[in-house]
Amino acid sequence: MRMTLRQIAAAMQAALPVCEAEGRTPAAISTDSRTAAAGTLFFCIPGERFDGHDFLADVAAKGALAAVVERDIPNAPLPLLRVEAVVPALGRLALAHRCQYRGKVVGVTGSAGKTTVKELLAHLLEGLGPVAKNHKNLNNHIGLPSSMLAATGEEAFWIMETGVNFVGDMDSLAAMLEPDLVVAVNAGAAHLEGLHDVPTVAREKCKLVRALREGGVAVANADSPELRQAIAETGRPAVWFSTESATAACRCEFVSLTETGGRFVLSLHGETVEVDTAFAAPFLAQSLAAAAAAAHALGAPLDLIAERLTTAGLPEQRFHVQRAGRWILIDDSYNANPLSMTAALDAARAMAGQGALVLVLGEMRELGEVARAAHEALGAQAAGLAPAAVFWTGGQREAVAAGLARAGETDSLRELAAPEAFVHSLNELFARQGDDVVVVFKGSRANRLERYVTALRDAA
Ligand code: ATP
Ligand code: MG
Repeated sequence: MRMTLRQIAAAMQAALPVCEAEGRTPAAISTDSRTAAAGTLFFCIPGERFDGHDFLADVAAKGALAAVVERDIPNAPLPLLRVEAVVPALGRLALAHRCQYRGKVVGVTGSAGKTTVKELLAHLLEGLGPVAKNHKNLNNHIGLPSSMLAATGEEAFWIMETGVNFVGDMDSLAAMLEPDLVVAVNAGAAHLEGLHDVPTVAREKCKLVRALREGGVAVANADSPELRQAIAETGRPAVWFSTESATAACRCEFVSLTETGGRFVLSLHGETVEVDTAFAAPFLAQSLAAAAAAAHALGAPLDLIAERLTTAGLPEQRFHVQRAGRWILIDDSYNANPLSMTAALDAARAMAGQGALVLVLGEMRELGEVARAAHEALGAQAAGLAPAAVFWTGGQREAVAAGLARAGETDSLRELAAPEAFVHSLNELFARQGDDVVVVFKGSRANRLERYVTALRDAA
């Protein structure tokens, strides 16, 4: 972002008293005093636990150029831009930056796999030019504008995922992003506490499609009836991708697991290619289809896409597969909702083949009223996979047990204890057989199941 403090104040409708710094350009923006560096413009965000306004002395000592505040601070140690509310002002600045940008802006939405698709699409488009994207998972009303403002504006593409928890959350994200292309990965039962049901999830996500610029296009999942309906309601043009339907313009199908990942067949507008990837799960055909369709719509030819897919990796904790001694560890511990849980468990069984499979699972959170039914269904699905053991942590244990019992599994559920105890019980469980064992780890962020992956790997 190349704007002076005076221009920034104008873009945010902020009051900035005449000061020596007004003609200077911030080196970066920051919303976290711990990472604020010299020359930054610091946004004082009133959070639940900390209030950014309490850290003005801190950031001034680190050499911050100025701060954006929403209340009067007498005798502040640095120049202040005073606004009504800091978070919306951050969004207005991101929009101003976006309006100066001449490259293409991609918005990614969906219930499971946004980060996966964002990273994959970035990797594909880096074959055409420089790319900016959200840092990790910074995709909400603070993370998205921060990610946009971290872009220099010199890039050919911005690829930004948008995260929503409640009806209305997409409004401000869509307004600041004004995308040229939207990837609608899927719509499923995620964040139902705030989004009620799947049609509402789809409609909220499609607000991003409504915000498309003139001439913009949606790249959307044809396999979701709710998305098809919600996209149709926007009246905007769409390119459809699918892992099921032969009529979709863009398709990806899982072929087989390989020594190092998975083989897929990709078809884009009548051209077909087979690719070997590091993606070792059938459900990732959806992410591949979404990213490839979007890259193609942005000008990447199929041969470039196919070539770059062979070197694409998965973000950490998203179906990351590693071997440690006899254990084949699938780290899918980043997060879980019914959509991604079902997909991961089926993929884990596919990887285990006829061999032993251990499920290390945690509660799927934020499901509201459907939480119990979703966990019973999970228990029933788990039973169908004939696991050697199911370790569970978090709430809803009883619902999972009921689902398992309904499907005839009464004694495979165990409480997940401390990591060392978990490693010990796995070693005991498999002491008498020497074959490989596939262990899949999946739960909500709060379960921090990655600790168990590390413990088992380090003990192997
Ligand atoms: P968040 O809402 O936390 O930002 P996200 O939508 O960005 O999540 P990812 O972080 O990419 O999603 O993946 C979350 C989980 O969903 C991971 O465990 C990942 O393996 C799984 N996942 C990724 N892609 C898909 C898909 N197409 N279908 C089902 N699950 C998927
Ligand atoms: Mg994400």
